[in-house]
Amino acid sequence: MEWIRAGRRLDTARIGVNRTGRKIAELCQRGWFSLGHNVRCPFCNWRGRKFLPHGVEKKTNRRCPRCGSIERYRLLYVYLLRRTSFFQERLRILEVGPSKCFRNLAARLPNIEYVSIDSNRHRAMAQADIVSLPFPAHAFDLVICFGVLEQVKDDLSAMREILRALKPGGFAILQVPVETDRDVTFEDPSIGPDDYEKVFGDSDSVRIYGLDFTDRMAAAGFRLIDQPVADEFGVQCLETHALRHGQNLYVGMKPRDYGPGGESLADPSAAHFSKIAKQSLSLKVLDDSRQLAPSDRLTRLLDVFRPMKEVSPAKAYDAADEWSLSPFPDGYAFAFTIVHDADSAYSRRLEPLFEVFDEFGFKITGTVFTFWADWARNGKIWLEWRNNGRDGFFAPNSVPLVDEKEREFYIQLSARGHEIGMHTPSETSNTREDVIRAFEYFKEVFGRYPRIYVEHAVTRNKDGQASEGSKPGSIYFNTDLLNAYEPWVWVDDDCGVPDKHHKRFYDILAVNGSPFNTVAAARYGIAKAFLRTGKWREADGDGFLAWYSEKNIDALEEQRGLALVYMHLDAKWLDVETREMRPAIKERLRYLASKNGWFIPAGVILDRLQAIHQLKLYHNERRLKLVNTGSSTIEGLTVTSNRGRGLRNLRKSWKPGRRGEMVLGAIHPGETLWFNID
Ligand SMILES: [Zn+2]
Ligand SMILES: [Zn+2]
Repeated sequence: MEWIRAGRRLDTARIGVNRTGRKIAELCQRGWFSLGHNVRCPFCNWRGRKFLPHGVEKKTNRRCPRCGSIERYRLLYVYLLRRTSFFQERLRILEVGPSKCFRNLAARLPNIEYVSIDSNRHRAMAQADIVSLPFPAHAFDLVICFGVLEQVKDDLSAMREILRALKPGGFAILQVPVETDRDVTFEDPSIGPDDYEKVFGDSDSVRIYGLDFTDRMAAAGFRLIDQPVADEFGVQCLETHALRHGQNLYVGMKPRDYGPGGESLADPSAAHFSKIAKQSLSLKVLDDSRQLAPSDRLTRLLDVFRPMKEVSPAKAYDAADEWSLSPFPDGYAFAFTIVHDADSAYSRRLEPLFEVFDEFGFKITGTVFTFWADWARNGKIWLEWRNNGRDGFFAPNSVPLVDEKEREFYIQLSARGHEIGMHTPSETSNTREDVIRAFEYFKEVFGRYPRIYVEHAVTRNKDGQASEGSKPGSIYFNTDLLNAYEPWVWVDDDCGVPDKHHKRFYDILAVNGSPFNTVAAARYGIAKAFLRTGKWREADGDGFLAWYSEKNIDALEEQRGLALVYMHLDAKWLDVETREMRPAIKERLRYLASKNGWFIPAGVILDRLQAIHQLKLYHNERRLKLVNTGSSTIEGLTVTSNRGRGLRNLRKSWKPGRRGEMVLGAIHPGETLWFNID
């Protein structure tokens, strides 16, 4: 009774997509609209066209007018957000040479205990010299020190002092200006302060660091853990936060076995620390007794700063990857659906086929023409066929939605869970007016615009997308209309995946990991174009049987593929005698239904994949992080461990299924989920 189970799966196919919101967000992000919101400060959320100029040279687009953040701090924020669990862990933090933006952030976060020092008493919570910090050894989980070391005469001592103040396994994030064409740091103690600006380019600097800065960190006793560069976070992030190309940070760890001097250094000022801590009302004192046991705590802190690998959801499934994000919900291994082309479709011939789809739990997409073409003379062509004494069941033409009986049939199919899409308005060339009329009529009938639109264009007398449909000025121009009504569009030209180049039938994920037709998007400007799988010219009847063999179906499941099978459900699917689906095809569908597949209409699959592409998965050995950067809630989110490892968070734990799959539930827009890896 496998198909009954399969049929019930429809209930679990849920997706919430706020289309308008997503669209606007995308447009803004890509800067297609100049809305005056090109840049955004992550610290204070200020948005504007540009940041203020900053520095001696007054370079533009640097300083946030609200909180004063400059590029290196915005890079710090992005790094902490994307690569660490800074926002989740309880951390005691020291900032040397503090910044307003970071101080305000620390004050807002309930998990952070923060203290700052500076040599200038007005700039920080306490006045102190970096080479003699007024804190006990092993006091901090994290030290932030930006733009300071280049001004310190004995920077090695300063770094050793930071190490002393760090807990073993704790981290320092350092930033200094480095001249990348300089191998060795330049310094000369004989140069006096009057000449600093002339020699070092800044009246406060006492040296120019070269690429050996990391060696100096190592000499002080740091282990270099990460060296994030602004460009790693992508062009969009770079532009939105106005980060500087090539700017980087240095993340050093205090080794757990950090030896001589670490423990033995005198601790003259433990009392001083608590005094400073109490000076700030925003400071939250951690209850150390409630913290994790030291060994666990160390392990977790290590993981906090261990770089995470990003896994692209757009990438084809690869068993060699340790973790992957399933595009499908609820642990389904693959997706299969049919996009039926209406060319010769007619309710009497379709009904026996849909009965079988329903029996096996396949919810598919059937397209329909909206109006009669002129050559069909409002259906008279059918009468002539019958008047010649032939059987209407096998008449060669399609019947459009405007026919009352057909309309009832499609409304009923829709109520049974199938998706009704639109073929072109009629089976001929269609003008802009035709397209508008068809979409509006469709909405009158079904209560919504179609989610799938099939465009025939290369055949003569069909001047849609591939010929004049993309030409502004033509009476057939429809690109703007298709974008406005927002269906997923199948364009019938060489934008599709040519089968002869791709031997695998489930070629979508195998080709580029995406069912989205980027070629059509680029060539015609159609925002939502999709690809079909399979050899559709052979997909009718025998072609379907040959192509979707049991072996290929096995492979589809094995490789977690996606099949959007484009075909004509026409007379070749029917047994001429019984007028039922051909038994061989029915048996093949029965085999398919016995698999753990997601058998849901194309529009649902495409919307889900679009939402999934807004997800990011990061992991290291111990932690896994999921971020939803999109505007849709994604339900039944499924990740796969190819090493059979489980996940847990504070509330729940997950054991991997037979193929490593775990269903983690929903992720909402903007949400970040963290998991510990078992
Ligand atoms: Zn700001
Ligand atoms: Zn067609």
